[in-house]
Amino acid sequence: MILLIKPTLESSRMAKVAKNIAVIGAGYTGLVAGVRLAEAGHKITILERGDQIGGLASGFKVEGSSLERGYHHLFRTDKYIINMADELGIGDRLKWYDSSLSIYYGRKLYPFMTAFDLLRFAPLSFIGRLRLGLVAIYLKYTKNWQQLENVTAYEWMKKWVGKEVTKVIWEPLLIGKFDKYYDKVSMAWLWARVYTRANSRVKGELAEKLGYFEGGFQVFTDALAKKLDELNIKVRTEQEIAKIISLSNNKVQINFISSKPEIYNVCLVTTPSHIFAKLIESNRQAKPSYINKLKSIDYLGARLLIFSSNQDISEYYWHNINDVNLPFLVFINHTKLVGKDLYNNKNVYYIGVYLPHDHRFFNLDDRKLEKLWFDGLKQIFPNFKESEIREKHHFRFANAQHIVDVGYSKKIPLHETPLPNIYLANFSQVYPEDRGTNYAVRDGQRIADIIKANIEL
Ligand SMILES: Cc1cc2nc3c(=O)[nH]c(=O)nc-3n(C[C@H](O)[C@H](O)[C@H](O)COP(=O)(O)OP(=O)(O)OC[C@H]3O[C@@H](n4cnc5c(N)ncnc54)[C@H](O)[C@@H]3O)c2cc1C
Repeated sequence: MILLIKPTLESSRMAKVAKNIAVIGAGYTGLVAGVRLAEAGHKITILERGDQIGGLASGFKVEGSSLERGYHHLFRTDKYIINMADELGIGDRLKWYDSSLSIYYGRKLYPFMTAFDLLRFAPLSFIGRLRLGLVAIYLKYTKNWQQLENVTAYEWMKKWVGKEVTKVIWEPLLIGKFDKYYDKVSMAWLWARVYTRANSRVKGELAEKLGYFEGGFQVFTDALAKKLDELNIKVRTEQEIAKIISLSNNKVQINFISSKPEIYNVCLVTTPSHIFAKLIESNRQAKPSYINKLKSIDYLGARLLIFSSNQDISEYYWHNINDVNLPFLVFINHTKLVGKDLYNNKNVYYIGVYLPHDHRFFNLDDRKLEKLWFDGLKQIFPNFKESEIREKHHFRFANAQHIVDVGYSKKIPLHETPLPNIYLANFSQVYPEDRGTNYAVRDGQRIADIIKANIEL
């Protein structure tokens, strides 16, 4: 009997170290960190500026079903989020669908999924196609990405696939993703894109499979919300933080835009790096060199238009727009991937671009942007009819993608900051992989482990 009521080592440790922890930002990094810290016995409050949780992966309703404001899917290699979905009991809601990819170039749409498609890709000379294929194979089997860190993807590609292939394939893709920074991006980043994609195919599967939650990523967000509730984690939305102050007793004061300050033992910040810089810059420990390092990471915004239509415009899911004269980077036929059942049997599409904040599209009036984009779409699909559109939704993200330039690893801030009990975890620390929900889950767990180890000392 006595043995039964004796506290375990685990529970006595938990009680001894329980801390009041604020997590700023309710994207997946913050939510997952909150779960892991609460599981270790800490008292967690999540503070989010927006009116809902889920951050960049949060959704809205189109044709009666939830959809991400920015297009989302998963790869087979995204093991952290796949495992977390299993743990949350929603593994069976993650379905794998055959992907289909095309490239629009020279006023024509080309399938681009198999080696055979590459060999038939007419915009390139035969030698160009061969070089493109060989370089893709080389990148698939290269593990030492560090050797690619100090060269731009643009220069590296020009050297190895040649000017012709760079002009037709890589330059438009880099411009689409990084706009004016297209010739600054590190080859290590592009290596990771090709490597992950090439290695995410399961042997025997003919088509590439992409993962999507039946009911949208909202299913994952809802499962996290249920877990937060079970763990008594407080989640407060519409709480914009204005300042974080490190107090002399090593506690942390959080100042809000519109409510009274609060004091915590520990604060984890998951906002973009430059926002974190602004939040902490009044502290004496935040030396100018540290603040400048945080601010040296540039971010692009994004604009997205989602529309539903009676019309089935294209036979492909993904369309890379490699014609730089068209005003968007990507056209996505969401229901071609996942089917129309959940969307009133209608077709759901995305048009999207990444943009610097000073780009004229970023603040362009919705109707004017629609006009430009729909005219572009008519060029690709002459049968496209605006009159068949049922719903239209516009979204803007201020910090959608960070610029992974040459030597980026030296810019990455550590999770532990110079301010006692203040930690940082955001997607600018994901490298060389492209940021994504998988890495948000991974880093949420990682930062929780770091905090637990530090405060349990
Ligand atoms: C267009 C687009 C397409 C994408 N496609 C994919 C995809 O196909 N697959 C995939 O896995 N990933 C994709 N991603 C990336 C993925 O959404 C992100 O990597 C992931 O959601 C990042 O989570 P996070 O928690 O690190 O950051 P965020 O989701 O950005 O969360 C940070 C949170 O901090 C809050 N915040 C900021 N400032 C303050 C403040 N002062 N006070 C309080 N709160 C604040 C923000 O509102 C936000 O909710 C895509 C992203 C975009 C934009």
